[in-house]
Amino acid sequence: CAKDAGRNQRVSFDPSMRVELERAVQLEHDLRSAIELGQMWIELQPQFDQYQQLLGAECLLRWRHPTYGMISPFEFIPLAEKSLLIVTLGDWVLEEACTLLTAWESIPALANIHLSINVSARQIDNPSYVDEMVVTLARHGIAPQRLQLELTESVFVCDMPTTVGRMHQLNALGLSLSLDDFGTGFSSLTYIKQLPFSELKIDRSFINDLEHDVMDYRMVEFIVHLGHELGMRVVAEGVETRSQMDHLVTMGCDVIQGYLLAKPMPVTEFIKRHGVS
Ligand code: C2E
Ligand code: MG
Ligand code: MG
Ligand code: MG
Repeated sequence: CAKDAGRNQRVSFDPSMRVELERAVQLEHDLRSAIELGQMWIELQPQFDQYQQLLGAECLLRWRHPTYGMISPFEFIPLAEKSLLIVTLGDWVLEEACTLLTAWESIPALANIHLSINVSARQIDNPSYVDEMVVTLARHGIAPQRLQLELTESVFVCDMPTTVGRMHQLNALGLSLSLDDFGTGFSSLTYIKQLPFSELKIDRSFINDLEHDVMDYRMVEFIVHLGHELGMRVVAEGVETRSQMDHLVTMGCDVIQGYLLAKPMPVTEFIKRHGVS
């Protein structure tokens, strides 16, 4: 399904696009060796409950290019998704997350929190994804309940029966599934009903203007309600102000993630902050 991604792109050409294209070609090339050259790492962004108790963290991939400097995942993930490279990157992030979860078993303050990883549609498309997940979890000996997979609505454009089947298999393993960037993509209530999501993650764009835009406010209120009616936890991402947080808590939103409470940070920093009881 992801093979269709390259179609319908613009065909006209101007000099600025040439520079853009050269950069993309260079980055796509360099991405192949970024992990082995030690240019990539993950950062952790904490997720809190309404009382600001730590529940877990989201793993976010970082890449520092030797000449271009820091490259946003918004730029390099789509490049990786054009090829099977996203599978390699995804496997690496999974390994990192499992390694952390194992190490944290001996740190009481971190022994029960979860880690979330972002998974691209292209990874789920891979027929061996579920089997490889089983093998990886077993090799690390971690409880699947401690790992959460964040999927975006883009998984819905793929072969639905296959995707639905795989997601149920992942859920049956004990992993929990989170619907990331909810409200921005292709999801319909039919999909949400069919798929075993345990969490809805409200997209940042609805949170931004929550205090000032009454439509956004009502939309968020509705999503929280919808999630709860369907037995799901509801997460707000991109929470930047106290007033946004207060509104979300009033609405009963279960999980708060955003710069207000914590930015993504290196693993060592995360352990320093949260590893002591
Ligand atoms: P996402 O999964 O929706 O992650 C949330 C993004 O919002 C992160 O951007 C995070 O740094 C940012 N963010 C968190 N709190 C705030 C806030 O209060 N304000 C603002 N303005 N931004 C906030 P980041 O790290 O740049 O990642 C961008 C996207 O790249 C992610 O969006 C995710 O879709 C993708 N991504 C990152 N790491 C991975 C990965 O390992 N695999 C895959 N497939 N995608 C990844
Ligand atoms: Mg995410
Ligand atoms: Mg998101
Ligand atoms: Mg996103």
